[in-house]
Amino acid sequence: MGAVLFLPMKTSHRLLIIAPHSSYRIAPYLQAAEALGVDVTIASAGEHSLISVINKGLHINFADKEQALAEIVAAAEQTPFAGILGTDDMSVALAANVAKALGLPHNPPEAALLARRKDKARACLQENNVGVPVHHRIELKKPIIAQLETLDYPCVLKPLAMSGSRGVIRVDDVAAAQAAVTRIIAILRDVEEAEESAAILAEKYIAGREVAYEGLLSDGTLKTLALFDKPEPLEGPYFEESYYVSPSRLSTKIQNKITTTVAAACSAYGLVQGPVHAELRIDEQGDVWVMEIAARTIGGECARLVELATGQKLEKLVLAQLLNLPLPSIDFEGGAGVLMIPIPKAGILRRVEGVAAARAVEGIEELVISVRDGHELVPLPEGSSYLGFIYAVTNSAAEAELALRQAHSQLKIVTAPLFKLQSL
Ligand code: ADP
Repeated sequence: MGAVLFLPMKTSHRLLIIAPHSSYRIAPYLQAAEALGVDVTIASAGEHSLISVINKGLHINFADKEQALAEIVAAAEQTPFAGILGTDDMSVALAANVAKALGLPHNPPEAALLARRKDKARACLQENNVGVPVHHRIELKKPIIAQLETLDYPCVLKPLAMSGSRGVIRVDDVAAAQAAVTRIIAILRDVEEAEESAAILAEKYIAGREVAYEGLLSDGTLKTLALFDKPEPLEGPYFEESYYVSPSRLSTKIQNKITTTVAAACSAYGLVQGPVHAELRIDEQGDVWVMEIAARTIGGECARLVELATGQKLEKLVLAQLLNLPLPSIDFEGGAGVLMIPIPKAGILRRVEGVAAARAVEGIEELVISVRDGHELVPLPEGSSYLGFIYAVTNSAAEAELALRQAHSQLKIVTAPLFKLQSL
C-alpha cells in the first residue's frame, strides 16, 4: 500500500493523527485541530478509505509496523509534522515510534506495550513499588486447577490484553474460578496474537471505591485535568462502568495520594508526554491501588465529560500540549457527571421508553441512546458496549449524581429474547 498525499502546508503547525479507520476519536480531534487553526494529516488503514477524500490522508498498513513507520517518515520529509498523535491503544505505539524517528517529543514506544499488556504492566509497577494487586499468570497450557488452588481468594480473573472490562470476572473460590476460566477462554477466541491468549491474569481482589483520572504530561510533569468518582459500588462478579461524577468528593489528602500514585506509575512506565488516563481503587485504609494506566485519553463518549467538568474540550487540551501551544485555562465550578447506561440483560433491543421524561430531569444536559432497535445487547463479561450515555451539568457533584439516577429511573429498556438457530 503506497503513501498518498499531499496538499501544500498552510500553517507552521501540521499534526499527524494515527488512528484505526473506524476510530470515533478522529472527529473530536479534527474539530479541536480546526479550533486551534492546526492542519491535520490522518494516517489510517483501509484501501478504500474515505479518509484521503475528506481529509489529507496517508494509507498505512497497521499489520506491517516497519513499513508503516517508513512510509510516515518518508511523508514527513516532504511535509514536516509538528506533532504526532496516536488516538487509540492500537496506534499509540506507532505514534511513539514515528515521533522518535522524527525527533519530536515522544513516550518510549515500550510504554505503549505496557498499556496493552496487563501482566507486563502489573510487573512493571510492582517492580517500582507502585500499589498494584498481587497477581499471577494462569498458564492455559499447564494444568489449570492446580494453579487456581494456589490463589488467595477473592480474586479477579481477566484476559491479558482486552479493554472495557471484557472478560474481567471476580471469583470467590476455586469452583467459581474454574467456571470463569472456561468463560474467559471462550472470549479469548477473538484474540489474534497467540501470546495474548496463552494465559489469564489472576489478581487479588481489592475492595474499595474507584476513581477515574485524566491528566496531561509535559516533559515528565503531570497536570491533573479531572478526577471522577464512580459512586456506584463495583464489587463484581462483572465490572460494568456506570456513573462518573466530578468534582471528586474524596478528601484532599486522598486526592493528592491519587495524583502522586499516577505520577509514580507514569514514571515507572517511562511516560513523559501527552494524555494519561488512569483507573484507581482506594481501600478502607486509604491506600491507593492502580487498576489501569494508559497513555491516551479516556475512551468513548466519556471524553465529553472532561469538557463538562473542566469547561475545555479534552482533545483541544491534548493537541495544544502536543504542539506546544499555550494551554487554555481550566476552570469549572459546579458538578458534572455521565451515566454509561448499563445493558440490563441479553436480548434484542426492542425500544427504550421514557427518553423524553429522562431528558426533562433538571440538570440533564444530554441523553444519547447509541444502540439501534433490533440490535443484539450483549452484557459483560462477553459484551463490551453500553446502551447509551446520559450527561448532567449541575451545581455540585451530589446534584449531578442525583440527576443521573433520576433520569435513569425514567428509562424502561424493552428487550426480546434472542433465539439462535442451532445447526443439527
Ligand atoms: P479493562 O482494561 O478491560 O477495563 P481492568 O483490568 O481495568 O480491565 O478492570 C476493569 C475493572 O474491573 C476495574 O476498573 C475494576 O473495577 C475491576 N477490577 C479489575 N481488577 C480488579 C482487582 N484486582 N480488584 C478489584 N477490582 C478489579
